Amino acid sequence: MFTKKIDHIGIAVKDASARLSLYEGFLGLKDVHIEELPSRGIRVYMIKIGESKIELLEPMNEQSEINKFLETKGEGIHHIAFTVEGINQAVELAKKNGLQPLSDSPKPGAGGTTVLFLHPKTTGGVLIELVEGSH
Ligand code: ZN
Repeated sequence: MFTKKIDHIGIAVKDASARLSLYEGFLGLKDVHIEELPSRGIRVYMIKIGESKIELLEPMNEQSEINKFLETKGEGIHHIAFTVEGINQAVELAKKNGLQPLSDSPKPGAGGTTVLFLHPKTTGGVLIELVEGSH
């Protein structure tokens, strides 16, 4: 497995429309793609910036998986995502390297990608997402 670039930076927000004035209005990033992930209770705003993206994560409902983060830490940087090849080997490889995957296998992510998260307690405090199939 290897990585070529930072795919995106995930940012937890309570209300994306309030934050879009910064990214879209102030910073002039007009390429915004909105996608809902009902199984995770998240509405994702993918904002393209060069070869990378800013990913705003907004809760869709009370059960949203982002709510716990918002309640305990408030709005802010949630994770950093690396584009990788060979994500199917990532679980085994991560464990060999003393890292703890958050799931037993990679899962579907936004935009038809496959993703795997690594627990921040094993990465020095950073929630890391591995992404394959991003474009
Ligand atoms: Zn992400």
